[in-house]
Amino acid sequence: MDERPEVVVEISHLRHDQVFHYLPPGEMPGLELGARVLVPFGKKTVQGWVVGFSAPPPGVTLRPIESVVGDKPDFNPELLRLARWMADYYLHPLPEILKLMSPPEKPVRTRKHAPAEGMTPAGRHGRLALNAEQVVALREIEAALRVGGNNSGRALASGGAGSAPGAGRQEAAATGMASYSSAERQPGATGAGRQFLLHGITGSGKTEVYLRAAMTALSLGRQVLYLVPEIALTPQAVAWFRAALGDQVAVWHSRLSRGERYETWSGIRQGVLSILIGPRSAVFAPFKNLGLIIVDEEQDASYKQQESPYYHARQVAVRRARGNGAVLILGSATPSLESYTGARDGRYRLLRLTRRPQGRRLPRVTVIDLRQEHDVRFNLLGQYLSGQIALRLQRREQVILFLNRRGYSPIVFCPSCGLVLKCERCSISLVYHRTTGDLRCHYCNSRRPLPERCPGCGTAGSLRYLGTGIQRVEHLLRRFYPQARIQRLDFDTTRRKGEFDRILDSFGKQETDILIGTQMVAKGHDFPGVTLVGVLDADLALKLPDYRATERTYQLLAQVAGRAGRGRVPGEVVVQTYFPDHYSIQAACFAGYPSFYRQEIRNRELSGYPPCGELIRIRVAGEREQQVERRINELAEALVALLPGERVRLLGPAPAPVLRLQDLYRWQVMLMGELGGLKSEIRDCIQRFKKNTSVIISIEVDPYGL
Ligand code: ADP
Ligand code: ZN
Repeated sequence: MDERPEVVVEISHLRHDQVFHYLPPGEMPGLELGARVLVPFGKKTVQGWVVGFSAPPPGVTLRPIESVVGDKPDFNPELLRLARWMADYYLHPLPEILKLMSPPEKPVRTRKHAPAEGMTPAGRHGRLALNAEQVVALREIEAALRVGGNNSGRALASGGAGSAPGAGRQEAAATGMASYSSAERQPGATGAGRQFLLHGITGSGKTEVYLRAAMTALSLGRQVLYLVPEIALTPQAVAWFRAALGDQVAVWHSRLSRGERYETWSGIRQGVLSILIGPRSAVFAPFKNLGLIIVDEEQDASYKQQESPYYHARQVAVRRARGNGAVLILGSATPSLESYTGARDGRYRLLRLTRRPQGRRLPRVTVIDLRQEHDVRFNLLGQYLSGQIALRLQRREQVILFLNRRGYSPIVFCPSCGLVLKCERCSISLVYHRTTGDLRCHYCNSRRPLPERCPGCGTAGSLRYLGTGIQRVEHLLRRFYPQARIQRLDFDTTRRKGEFDRILDSFGKQETDILIGTQMVAKGHDFPGVTLVGVLDADLALKLPDYRATERTYQLLAQVAGRAGRGRVPGEVVVQTYFPDHYSIQAACFAGYPSFYRQEIRNRELSGYPPCGELIRIRVAGEREQQVERRINELAEALVALLPGERVRLLGPAPAPVLRLQDLYRWQVMLMGELGGLKSEIRDCIQRFKKNTSVIISIEVDPYGL
C-alpha cells in the first residue's frame, strides 16, 4: 500500500503522539514533512503537522488534507526529531510541543532585512591576547569544531534521537564517520569530546572564549546559537559579538516586532544570519548548518520554562547539539549540579578558568553573623556594613547592595487581633509597597489599597510592617546618607521600557553611588568602579521549600560576590547571615565550588533528588478544594498501582507549597526514583485521567522551585 501523510492534530484529549493518516491535498504533489496543515477532524477543521509518511492500516477510509499553511514546512526533520524527544522526555503532547516550536507568523507586509541598531563592523576583538587558561580551553573547543567542520557532522551524531517515521530518508549517513570516531578519543557516551563544561570563575573571561569559538565555527561555515538567560542582562556580550562580527549576528528577544521575528527566523533558516543570541526560546531556531551551541550561565533558572510545557532549554540544547553533531559549551562560574555531575561522569569535558585576567584579584569576603549584629534600628543595615558603606561613599567608590525581596515589608500584621493580611486569591501574605502606598500579591500581581483599619478587628491605625524588603532598605539609606545618589533596580522600578538600561547606564557612568537591587544586580554586569558588595540577607533562598534551595543560595552568593573588584581597586564583599557555618555560605565565600559540590552531591545521593534520581511532579488544580483532593487521591492510587515498589517512591498527595493560587487550589504528588522505563505508562495513566474531569492536571519533569 502507498505511503500516506501522518498528521498530529491539536486536539487535547488524544494520546500524546497519536497520528492520523490523511490523503494528500489534491493539487499539492510535494507535500513535505514538517508542513503545517488544516485537516477535517470529526465535524471540525483543526490544525496539525505532517510528522511522517507511512502505509495506513487496512480498511480505513482516509479523508484529504484540506490545505497546507504557509509556503514552507514549519519544521525540518531535525526539529521534528527534537520535538519527539521533548514530547517523550517531558511527557507532553507532541502537538503542543510543535506549537511551542513553530516559527513566527509571516506578517502581512514584509520589510527588507534591516541591520540591527547600534551595529558596528569588526572592532577590537581578535586582538586581546588570551591568557594561558583561555588558550587551553579554546584549543580543545576548536579541535572539536574542526572535526565536525566539513559539514558531515550534521548527519553523523543522530544516533539516540527518537526518529520520526519517514524522517530517515532525509538523512542518509555519513561520509565523515571515520574522521568523527577517530577524533573521539574519549570512550563513553555519545558526544563526549564534543560537549564541554566551561567552569570559569566570575570575571575570568568566558565571553572571550565564546567569541573566539564562535569565530572559528563561522570560519568553518557553521552557524552558532548563543543562549543567554535574559538578553537585557547581557548587553555587554551582545555588544562584543556585534562589534566583532557585525550584522551576521541576530538577537532574539521579546521586544522584536512580528516582522523582525519572521525575518530573523528566515535569515537563520536560509543561513544568511550566522549567529543567533537569545533566551531559551531561541533554542528552537531552524538552523541550516548548526556547528556550535553556547549556553551561558547554564545554571540559570530562567532556562527552565515555568509554565506548561515545562521544558529546560539547557537540556534541549544538549540534545540538539547531539542530534546535529554540533559542539556544545555549557558555561558557568557556578555550574548546576547536573552539569558538574555530567563532567564528573565523562559526559562533558571540563575546562577551567581559575583566574581573572590581568591579575585582578577576587574580592575579600567578610561574613557577618546576624545573631551578633543586634542593632535592630538599622534593620538589615548592620553596623559593620553601614560603616563600610560610609567609607566607600567618602572615597567616591561605588556600592552594590543585594536583597532578593521586593516591596517595603513582606508581612502586614495587626497586633490587636493577630491578623496577617493575605491575598484574596492566593494563600500568600500581601506585601506592603511604600512607593505606591498599596498592598500587593507577588504571586498573582493583584493589588489593593492599604486599609486604614484592620480588616479583622476594625482597629484604626493598628497595622504594622514586619520584615525588610528592598524599598525599606532604600528608605533607610536615603535617611542615613542624604548626600548619596541611590538607585533601586527591581521589578517595580524597571516596568517602564528603557528604565532597566537607564539605571544600569547611570551606574556604569558613576552617576549613582549605591545601587540596591534584587537578583537583577547579581548577573553579568561588569562595573569596575564597584568596591563593595553587600548581601543583606544571604539566607532568603535557603528557607524555600525546595531541594535546590542550597544550590541556589550558593549560586546567588557566588554570582553577587563576583560583581566586586572588577576594576583596579580590590573589592570587598560583606555577607550577612544567620547561618555563617552553613556549607553553601562557607563555600560561596571561601572554599569554592568543588567543596560545595562535594557536600551537596552527597545530600542529593542520600535523598535521591536530581541529579541522583529522577523527579516528576504531578499537580491537580481546581476551584473546589474537595474535588481537587478527591481527584489527586484517585490519581495517586492509580499511579501506585503502576509502580514497582522499591525503585520508585510516591510522595504525597499533599497541598502545593502555595496551596491556593489565582483562585485555584493545588495539590500534588511527586514521583521519585528510577522512572525512565515507566514514563510512558505514567503519561498514559494521567492522560486517561484528563479525559473526564474539570480539574487541571499538569506534569512537570525535573520540577524547579515553587
Ligand atoms: P566572565 O564571563 O567569565 O565573567 P568576562 O568575559 O565578562 O568574564 O570578562 C571579564 C573582563 O575581563 C572583561 O572586561 C573582559 O574584556 C576582560 N578580559 C577577558 N579576557 C581577557 C584577556 N585575555 N586579557 C585581558 N582582559 C580580558
Ligand atoms: Zn494573589
